[in-house]
Order: sequence, then structure tokens, then C-alpha cells
Amino acid sequence: MSLKDKVVWITGASRGIGRAVALACAAEGAVPVLTARHKDHLADTAATITAAGGQEPILLDYDITNLQAVERAFKGVFRQTKRLDGLVNNAGIMQDALLGMITAEQVETTFAVNVFAAIYHMQYAARLMGRAKTGSIVNISSIMGRYGYPGKTTYSASKAAVIGATLAAAKELAPSGIRVNAIAPGVVETDLVRDIMASKGAKVADDIGLRRIGSPSDVAASVVYLLSDQSKYVTGQVLGVDGGMNT
Ligand code: NAD
Repeated sequence: MSLKDKVVWITGASRGIGRAVALACAAEGAVPVLTARHKDHLADTAATITAAGGQEPILLDYDITNLQAVERAFKGVFRQTKRLDGLVNNAGIMQDALLGMITAEQVETTFAVNVFAAIYHMQYAARLMGRAKTGSIVNISSIMGRYGYPGKTTYSASKAAVIGATLAAAKELAPSGIRVNAIAPGVVETDLVRDIMASKGAKVADDIGLRRIGSPSDVAASVVYLLSDQSKYVTGQVLGVDGGMNT
């Protein structure tokens, strides 16, 4: 078990990629800290973990854009576990708009969830991990943050910012034994890309070298690798998990 007894914090663990990451971490022996805006949304993930013999997850409900709630959550978990080994900044939103239609509200909300919250979570996580001089942070970016996509200027910008934050934090935290990496998924079958799937359907796979859309568990496997000691000499990297998607 590559994550045995490691305390791993996963934002947005109720569905999609976050849920798959939670299940994969639990299957590798982690103590999962699962977050969502509503605790009842985590019930299914938690029940699946315990039914499979995983460790009892710690469930937290807060909005990741509420800085005071983030601080409270980290203090509470530290009181309980006295350690934090992994953080997965997974929660994210994507709002479509052509450049001429982008609103200030969209930009602010997207950056609050995708960028600012990730930075604040890294800040609090690093304080806890720094005590033990070890830890791994995985930020979920996107292929769109590297190469862009029409109609997704705000989202692409936010995901590019996640990469910048990852690279800088990796340099800053390496002397403290904390690794920071990003994953840039391609198209993964979740609620987030329902609109792309609805408009392009099976044609999406034509743009992917491996000729299939990704599954949440494809991403989760790479997250587990980056959290585990298998990657103990890997930091400041952006791992594309996109099936060889054309960009
Ligand atoms: P999803 O919509 O299924 O899940 C997103 C999660 O984030 C949900 O659990 C949601 O409740 C949570 N969330 C959103 N705003 C929040 C807030 N303010 N506070 C707390 N939680 C909040 O989407 P997904 O596809 O599983 O996306 C997970 C991550 O992967 C996102 O960062 C997304 O940008 C990224 N990603 C997804 C794809 C894809 O094709 N699905 C591709 C590249 C990157």
C-alpha cells in the first residue's frame, strides 16, 4: 500500500475526479480527508471507502473560497491527526464564455475557486507538512491551462495560473521536504465537461491519440503516484494525463 496511514486532504471529493482520487487513495491505505460544500454530498464516497475496507475518512464541509473556513478546517484536522502528508487541490469550476461575453463575476468566481483557494490550501498545508519536513501537494490543472481552448479563456487562464503557482511553490518548499506537482488532464468523463460531450459526442475521442476519453480513475492513478514515495524525487512537474490529446 503506497499511501499507508498517510493523511491526504482532497478538495471536491463528492464526485468526478475528486471522488476517484479519494477512492484510490483509500485503497492505498490513506486516511482521506474529504471536503465538499455539503457533508451529505460526501456520504456516498465515504460509504464506498469504508465498504471496501478503507480507513474511516474525515469529512469536512466548507466552501473552499471562504478563507476563514479553510483556516478553521486545517486547524481542526491538525488537532485530530497531528499531521498532513498530502494535499490534492482538485475542486474546480469551468464557466464558458466567448471573450466578448466574459463577465467580471465569472472571472472573479473562477479565479476564487480554481486559483486563490488552491494557493490558500497550499499555504496551510505547507505549514503542517513543514513540521515533519515531508509532504506532497498535487494541483489539478488542465490541458487548457497549457494550450488554451476557444470559449474557455477564463478557465484556461485560471489553470495556467495553477501551473505557475505549482512551479513557484515547488521551488520554495523543496528545502522543507515538500514536493509540489500539477496534473493536466485532457478530457475526463465528469459533469464538468458535459457540455463538450453533448456538443461533440464521440468525436472528442478522434482528437485523442489513445482514441478514448479519460476516466476519473485514469487521473486518480497519477495522483496516487505523485502523493506516494514512488515519486519522492519528483517535484515542480506538470504531468499531462490526456491520452495523447491533439492540442
Ligand atoms: P466536477 O464538476 O465533477 O467536480 C468538481 C468538484 O469541485 C465538485 O465536487 C464541486 O462540488 C467542487 N467545487 C466546486 N466549487 C467548489 C467550492 N467553491 N467549494 C468546494 N468545492 C467546490 O469536475 P471534475 O471534472 O471532477 O473536476 C475536478 C478537477 O479536474 C477540476 O479542477 C477541473 O478543472 C479539473 N479538470 C477536469 C477535466 C475534465 O475533463 N473533467 C479536465 C481537466 C481538468
